[in-house]
Amino acid sequence: DVQPVRRALLSVSDKTGLEDFAKNLAAQGVALVSTGGTAKALRAAGLDVKDVADLTGFPEMMDGRVKTLHPAVHGGLLALRDDPGHVASMDEHGIGPIDLLVVNLYPFEETVAAGADYDTAIENIDIGGPAMIRAAAKNHKFVNVVVDVADYNAVLAELKANNGTTYTFRQRLAATAYARTGAYDAAVSTWMAEALNEATPRRRAFAGTLAQPLRYGENPHQAAAFYTDGSDVAGVATAKQHQGKELSYNNINDTDAAFRLVAEFAPEDGPAVAIIKHANPSGVARGKTLAQAFGRAFDCDRTSAFGGIVALNGTLDAETATAITQIFTEVVIAPDATDEAKAIFANKKNLRLLTTGGLPDPHAARLAVRQVAGGWLVQDDDNGFVAREDLKVVTKRAPTDAEMTDLRFAWTVAKHVKSNAIVYAANGGTVGIGAGQMSRIDSSTIAALKAGRMGQDIGAAQSPAIGSVVASDAFFPFADGLLAAANAGATAIIQPGGSMRDDEVIAAADNAGLAMVFTGMRHFRH
Ligand code: 5GP
Repeated sequence: DVQPVRRALLSVSDKTGLEDFAKNLAAQGVALVSTGGTAKALRAAGLDVKDVADLTGFPEMMDGRVKTLHPAVHGGLLALRDDPGHVASMDEHGIGPIDLLVVNLYPFEETVAAGADYDTAIENIDIGGPAMIRAAAKNHKFVNVVVDVADYNAVLAELKANNGTTYTFRQRLAATAYARTGAYDAAVSTWMAEALNEATPRRRAFAGTLAQPLRYGENPHQAAAFYTDGSDVAGVATAKQHQGKELSYNNINDTDAAFRLVAEFAPEDGPAVAIIKHANPSGVARGKTLAQAFGRAFDCDRTSAFGGIVALNGTLDAETATAITQIFTEVVIAPDATDEAKAIFANKKNLRLLTTGGLPDPHAARLAVRQVAGGWLVQDDDNGFVAREDLKVVTKRAPTDAEMTDLRFAWTVAKHVKSNAIVYAANGGTVGIGAGQMSRIDSSTIAALKAGRMGQDIGAAQSPAIGSVVASDAFFPFADGLLAAANAGATAIIQPGGSMRDDEVIAAADNAGLAMVFTGMRHFRH
C-alpha cells in the first residue's frame, strides 16, 4: 500500500518551514506546483516551480478568490489511480495526478482575534484551500494531505523510510485534515453568530484547536489534550505560565474554576481570593489586602486548602506570595504579579504561577459544552446576576446592611459550588461550605460541621457560623434545611424561593427570627 509521491501542490498562507520542506521534496524528485505567493517564495529560494495558473489555463482572479478551483486541480486530487475510467478521464482532459497537497489556510482565526472588521473577516475566509484539503483527504487511498507545518518533518521521514507513503500514514493525515477544516468552519460559524450578536447555542458549530497534548486526563490511564476556542478571554487558556511544571488536566479544570469564581469580585470593590479543590472552593474571602483575603480564605478550611489552587482578583504582591508559600499550593493564578512576588515563588520549583493580564467578565455570554454518551449538551454559560434591587425580602425582619452585603457575597460563591450548595459567610469571607451532596440537608450539615472545625482551627470561642448568613443555590424544599442553618447560628438566608412549601419555609424563618431574601434565580451546578 505504499504510494509514490511524484508531484506536490503547495499553497500556504503561513510560509514557516516552507523553503526547507520544499527543498527536501525537490531533492527526492518531487515536482512542485504552487499558487502565487507560495510560488514566489519558492522561486526566491531557487526552486523550480510550476504555477497553478499554467495547470488550469486560467489566471488567479477576483483578488485570489478563485485560484485553484478548477478540474485540473481537483481532478488531479480526486482521481482514483486504479480506476480505468478515472485514468481515461485524466488522459482525455490532460489532468496530471497530484500526490501530495500542502495547504494551510488563510488565517481567519488570527484575523478575527486581531479585531478585524466584518469585510476583512469575510475576505479571510479561505474557499479554495478547504476545498482542496477535503478533496485530497477523501482520496487518501492515494493522496497525502498536510495542513500543519508541524507535520512537514514526519512526511519527509516517511518518504525517506518507504520511498513513498503508507496507507496508515495517509489515513492519519486525512483525519488531521478533516479536523482542521471542521474547526475552520466552526470558527467562521462562531464569528458569524457573534457578529449577529446571537451567541446562541442553537446557531453555531463549535470546535477547538489543539493547544496542548496533556500527559494524561483525570486519571493516569486516560489520554487527554487541551483545546482552545480561539477567544482571547482572560483565563487559564490564554495565561502566561512563569514557572513550574506543565499543568495537568485537573490543574486546568480547577484553575479555571478558581479564576472564574474570583473574577466575580471586581478589583474596584477590593481584594478577593478563592482557593479551589476539585473544582469546589474550600474558602473564598475578601480582605483589606490580598494577603489578608488569602489568610481568611485559607482559614475557612485549612485542611482542604492543602494542594489547592489559589486565584486572586488583583496583582500578586510579595506579602501574599510569602503567605501562599507557607502551604503546599499547586497553582496560583492572578491578573499580574510583581517582580518581588515572582522572586519569592522562584524558590518553589513545583508551584505554577499564571498571569492573565485581566479578569474574565463574569456577565459575558459564553457557551458551556458537556459531553454525554452519544452527544453534547450545549447551553449558555451561567452568567446570571441578581442585583440588590432584585432581591425580595420575604420575612418580617429585613436583613441589616451588613447581612445584606454578606448574603450577596455568599450567593455569588454558591453559584460556583457544586449542587447542592450551602455556603455560610461572615464579614466578607466564607466560614463553611457544603458542596456536591445529593440532599440539601446533608450539604447544610456538612457546611455547619466545617464552620465548627474552622472555629477550632483558628482558636475561636465559638463556631463562626454563629451570627453568619447562609446561601442555598436552589430553594429549600422543606423547612428542615433552613432550621439546620438557624440551629448552626445563621441569622439571614438567601435562596431562590419558588418551592411549593415557600409559605412553610417563610413561617419557620419568621419563627426563628431570621431575615430571608429570595433571588428569583437558581444557580444549579451539576
Ligand atoms: P499564496 O500565498 O500561495 O498566493 O496563497 C496561498 C493561500 O491561498 C492558501 O492559504 C490557500 O489555502 C489559499 N487558496 C488556494 N486556492 C484558493 C482559491 O481558489 N480560493 C481561495 N479563496 N483561496 C485559495
